Amino acid sequence: MAGTRSRGSIVSWRSSSSEPRVDRLAPVSRPVARLGVISSFFSDAFLGEHRTELVETPWGSAPVDVASVDGETVACLWRYGRGLDIASHRINYRANLWALRSLGVERVVSQNAIGSCNPALPPGAVVVSHDFIDFTHRRARSFFDDTDAWVRIDLTDPFCPEVREALTAAATPLFERLAPRGVFLCGEGPRFETPAEIAMFRQWGADIIGTPLVPEVVLAREAEMCFASIAPVINFATGLTTEVKHVGAGSMVDFYYRSGFHDRIETAIRSALRTLSRERRCRCGAAMDGAFHGPPPTWYTTRA
Ligand SMILES: [Zn+2]
Repeated sequence: MAGTRSRGSIVSWRSSSSEPRVDRLAPVSRPVARLGVISSFFSDAFLGEHRTELVETPWGSAPVDVASVDGETVACLWRYGRGLDIASHRINYRANLWALRSLGVERVVSQNAIGSCNPALPPGAVVVSHDFIDFTHRRARSFFDDTDAWVRIDLTDPFCPEVREALTAAATPLFERLAPRGVFLCGEGPRFETPAEIAMFRQWGADIIGTPLVPEVVLAREAEMCFASIAPVINFATGLTTEVKHVGAGSMVDFYYRSGFHDRIETAIRSALRTLSRERRCRCGAAMDGAFHGPPPTWYTTRA
């Protein structure tokens, strides 16, 4: 199933030769799934019969559940762990994204339950973002932080347009308020924002606020995987409501998981995955062409 990857190429750093040397990426040594989903929670109905793979990466290991979703093999990654016990600022993002790539994943759907700083997007709305603002400040942002090489990736389209289109088409009939565009501001956390910060983010053009999007979206691009986010709004941000509560009665977590909202998001993701199983025509698979400054490390080109 995943053995028919159409790969981009890496143009290596030119030292003295006049022509760039082109290294084809080696095929995935153990292709398992073309599609991946990163989520805070997977229901039994979504996962069904599945197995867990502990994938070794240069940054540590990451557990990934491999499930059959409507006949398509899907790599499912619990972003916060199965007990929701890993906070956004403590997630091993590089291990997670590299694990998906190592399994052969080409396209990633990300579920991001978020807060809204846009009065037109109340709790219950769903956003398929088209752009983001990075307000994180202490996270590793690249697979190449610790190597001689560094990369400058193009983010003209920060999210894959094909995955966005599939998510929008799948979610439109399921939700009363579906925004096919939106600016996602990613904060550091773990605390909530202050009213002054929210006012500033709004002035910057942000619509929604969450904490784990960056660096996931950036690392997916470095790994030449498509990536887009479907974001259910589960609370208004600080300053737009009288109180923001994480867990317990009346909290954002209660609103999301006890109202059936998450189940409907999973339904939308299932529907989108059927579209995304087709061959990709976007540019994500060649995202690293011309991006490298310096020779890529061998672990990258050999795709452990
Ligand atoms: Zn793409």
